[in-house]
Amino acid sequence: MAHNAPATLDHHLAEAQYTPMMQQYLAIKKEVPDAFLFFRLGDFYELFFEDAILASRELEITLTGRDAGVEERVPMCGVPYHSVDNYIAKLIEKGYKVAICEQVEDPKSAKGVVRREIIRIVTPGTVMESNSLAESANNYIAALAEEGEQFGIAICDLSTGELHVTSVPATAENLADELNAFMPSELLGDARLLNRAEAVLSAFSRRAVATEWTAERAELLQAHFAAPQLAPLNEAKRRAVCLLISYLHETQKRSLDHIRHIRVYEPQHYMVLDPFTRRNLELTETIRDRAKTGSLLWLLDRTVTSMGGRLLKRWVDKPLLSAERITKRLNAVDYLFHNLIAREELRQALKEVYDLERLAGRVAFGTANARDLLALKLSLRQIPGIMRLCRESGCQTLIALVADLDDCADIADWIEAAIVDDPPVSVRDGGMIKPGYNAYLDKLKEASAGGKQWIAQLEKQERELTGIKSLKLGFNKVFGYYIEVTKANLAQLPEGRYERKQTLANAERFVTKELKEKESLILEAEEKMVDLEYELFVELRQQIAGQIARLQRLGAAVAEVDAYQSLAEASVAGRFVRPEIAADDALMIVEGRHPVVEAVLTNGKFVGNDTRLNHEDGSIMLITGPNMAGKSTYMRQVALIVIMAQIGCFVPAQKATVPLIDRIFTRIGAADDLVGGQSTFMVEMKDIQTMTEKATGKSLVIIDELGRGTSTGEGMAIAQAVIEYLHDHIGCKTLVSTHFHELAHLEQSLPQLRNYRMAVREDDGNVTFLRKLVKGAADTSYGIYCARIAGLPESLIERAYQILQQYAGAKSAASRETFAKAPENAAEEVVQMSWFVGQEDAQAPHKGKPKKGKEANIDSHALKTLEKLKALDLMNMTPLQAMNVLYELKQQICLKI
Ligand code: ADP
Repeated sequence: MAHNAPATLDHHLAEAQYTPMMQQYLAIKKEVPDAFLFFRLGDFYELFFEDAILASRELEITLTGRDAGVEERVPMCGVPYHSVDNYIAKLIEKGYKVAICEQVEDPKSAKGVVRREIIRIVTPGTVMESNSLAESANNYIAALAEEGEQFGIAICDLSTGELHVTSVPATAENLADELNAFMPSELLGDARLLNRAEAVLSAFSRRAVATEWTAERAELLQAHFAAPQLAPLNEAKRRAVCLLISYLHETQKRSLDHIRHIRVYEPQHYMVLDPFTRRNLELTETIRDRAKTGSLLWLLDRTVTSMGGRLLKRWVDKPLLSAERITKRLNAVDYLFHNLIAREELRQALKEVYDLERLAGRVAFGTANARDLLALKLSLRQIPGIMRLCRESGCQTLIALVADLDDCADIADWIEAAIVDDPPVSVRDGGMIKPGYNAYLDKLKEASAGGKQWIAQLEKQERELTGIKSLKLGFNKVFGYYIEVTKANLAQLPEGRYERKQTLANAERFVTKELKEKESLILEAEEKMVDLEYELFVELRQQIAGQIARLQRLGAAVAEVDAYQSLAEASVAGRFVRPEIAADDALMIVEGRHPVVEAVLTNGKFVGNDTRLNHEDGSIMLITGPNMAGKSTYMRQVALIVIMAQIGCFVPAQKATVPLIDRIFTRIGAADDLVGGQSTFMVEMKDIQTMTEKATGKSLVIIDELGRGTSTGEGMAIAQAVIEYLHDHIGCKTLVSTHFHELAHLEQSLPQLRNYRMAVREDDGNVTFLRKLVKGAADTSYGIYCARIAGLPESLIERAYQILQQYAGAKSAASRETFAKAPENAAEEVVQMSWFVGQEDAQAPHKGKPKKGKEANIDSHALKTLEKLKALDLMNMTPLQAMNVLYELKQQICLKI
C-alpha cells in the first residue's frame, strides 16, 4: 500500500525561533503531514527536514542544508521548477503523495515573506502531467461507499473528466469484478469498507485512502453537479460520487469543470469477467510479464489516437451484453472492413488528431499551454473531414454518430486568431499571440521592435562617431545594453558622452543616456508584452474552458470512430469474419483460431477447430489429449472468440454464431497463482466455489486441468463432481480439459457431455501433434513421452516407463481384489480403480478398439531391441555375424526382463 512521507521533524525548538520563511514552511507542512511538500523558492522547489532526507534518497538528488535561523542547518534538497514534473512522477510512481506549494503573490509587491499556498496535491489517481500518464490507458481513481445492501462505485479519470458510476450487491467479489475492469491506481473509501474488502483491494496496491461521508461533502456534491445528474443515483452511488468529487476538490483545489457528466451504468449490461479470467485470457496484458504485447488488446489495437486507444481498452475490458449494441458496432466495423479507401482516409485524418479528451482536461484544469491550444486547433480542423467520411458511409452507426455532432469549428477559429503557429512551451515568456489579435499588444511590440531597430543601428552610428572600428554593441542580463571599447581605443572616446558601466580585462563597457532611455523603453514594453500575452492567453483558455462539454462530446465521438477502424483494420489483418449473434443459445464456430497464438506462430500454420455447443451437440466438451497438444489454446480461443464478438469485433474463424454470454469463468490448474500466499489448490477450489455460485445457464466455463493440485484419486473425484454439478445444476456451456483420460466414461452418464480429444499421430514411438480436435477420448496421457521431449535424461525416461508398468501391474491386481470383495458397488469401483491403473475397463466407451497408447507402456528395452532388429542388413551379413547379433539381442532381453 501507500508510503507516507514522514512528518516534519519533530523539533524541540519552538517554531518562533526559525526564520519567518521557515515558520511559513512549518505552518504549511502541517496541512499535509503525509505528503512531500514541494515548497517554491524562486526557480526551485525545495524540500526540508525528513522530506528532504527521504526525497534525496528516492530521487537520487543531493542533500544539502539551509540556514533557518537556528543553530543547525536544516536538511534541504531541491529540484528546478522546469523539471519538477519528472520528479513528481517518480514519487507518485512509488506511491507517494506530493503537495505543490507556490508563491501566490508577486514578490515585488510582497511585504515580508511572500505568501505561499498549496495549490494542488498530486496522488497516483490524480496526476495530470503527461509524463505520468500512459497515452492509451486511462488513469482511474475510484471511490467506494456502502449503503444498505449495496456498494456504490464511482470511477473517474481526472485527466479526461470521465466519471462512471455503478452499484453492486455488497460482496467483495462483486467489487473485484467491477474494479478489475478499471484497475484504478488509487482507491478511496470508508475505512471500515476498505478493511472489509482488503483481500480484494490489495490487488490495487498503489494507494488506498480512507475518507468518509460528511454533510459538508454532501453539500459540495449538490453544488458540483446539476440536479438531473444526481437524480438517478441511488444512495450508494450518490455517496461514492460524493467521496470522489470532494476528494478531488480537496486535493486539486480548483473548479473541475470537466467533471460534470455522470455516466451511470448497470453491471448486468456487460459481460462479467473475474480478475482471474481477465488475466488468464490475457485480454489486456500477458500473464508472464504483464505486458500489453501478446495480449488480445495488443492484437486489436490499431487505433491512431490516444483516446481511441483508451476507448478500445475499455471495450475489451467490458464486452457488451446487448445484441442491439453489438450489432451497431459490428455494422460500423463491417463497413470499414469492406471499404479500404474510406478506412485509409479515416486513418490519415485521425493521425492529425491529438488527444482531444486530455487537451480538454488540461484546458479545464488550467494547465494547458499555447502548444496544447495549437494541438487542439489542428485536431479540430480534421473534424469536418472525419464527419464527412462517416456521413457518406451509408452505415447507420457512423451516420448516427456524427448526425448532430458539433464540430467546434468556432473554437478552432478562436485559437487560429490568437495563437502563433510555433508557440513556446512556457506561457510566461510571451511569443504566443499573433499580431492583429490585440491592438495594445501590437503597439507594445512596435515600440519594442522600434527600440531594438534603433539599437541595431547604434553600433554603426557610434563607430562612425568615434572612428573606433572594433567598437561593439552588446547585451547581457545583468547590465543590459552596453557599448564595448577595447582598452587600446579608450583614448579615442569623446569626453562626457559615455558613462562607464563595467570593466573587463582588456575592454571597458559604457552606456549613453539615449541608450539607457531606449533600453528602459524596450524592457518596459517587453515586460508589459509578456504580462499582456499571458493575460490574453489565460482569457482564451478560460473561454475555451467554458466549452468543455462540447469538446468532450467530440472527443468521445472521434474515439469511437477510431475504435471502429481499429477493429476493422485488425479484422482485415487477421482474416476475421463477422460473427452472428445467435437468436437461441447455440455457440457454433467453424474452423475457429486463437487470434494471438496464430499471429505469433513462427513455424507452421495454425490449425482451425470447430466448436459446437448447443442442445443437440451437447453443452459440455470434455477434452483429453497429451500435454502440448493444444487443449488450452483451443479452450481459450473459444472464450476469445466470444469476447471479440461481444465487443463488436470480427472473429478468427470461417464462420461463427455466438450467443450472448453473460459471464466467462476460466479455471486453470497450473501453479501460477501463488501471489496471495494461498496454496494453488485452495485458490482453485475457491474459484470453483465462486463459479458454482455465480455461473448461469448463459455463462461459459473453462476448466483447464481441473483437480491437479491434490492426489490423483481425489483430483479426479473432484473433477467429476464439478462437471456433474455444472451439468445438472447450472447447464452452462463448459469446456473441460483434463489429462485424466479416465473421465471419459462420463459421456455415458451425462447426456450433455461429449468427449473430444486432440488428435495425435503415433509412429515408431514418436508422437506428432495434429492440433485437430476430434470426437472421442484419448486413452493415455503421454506424460512420459512429453518428459522425453522436454529433454529429461534417457535413463530417467526408461526408468519411468518401468515404474509405470510395475505400478499398472500392482494396481490391476489390487483392483481385481477390491472388485471381488465389494460386490454392491462393484461397477463404481471398477471405474475408480481403472483411473489408477490406466488400462481399459469393461465400461469404457472405447472397449475393443486397438489401444493406441500401448506402445508407450512397452518396455523401452524391448522397443530398442525391435529397432535393432529392424536395422539389421541381413543380406550383407555372414551367418556367424547373424548368430552373434541374435545372441546379443537375446542377452539384452533376458537381462532386462
Ligand atoms: P495443452 O494445453 O494441450 O498442453 P497448449 O494449448 O498449451 O497445449 O498448446 C501448446 C502449443 O501448441 C501452443 O503454445 C501453440 O504454439 C501450439 N498450438 C496449439 N494449438 C495449435 C493449433 N490449433 N495450431 C497450431 N499450433 C497450435
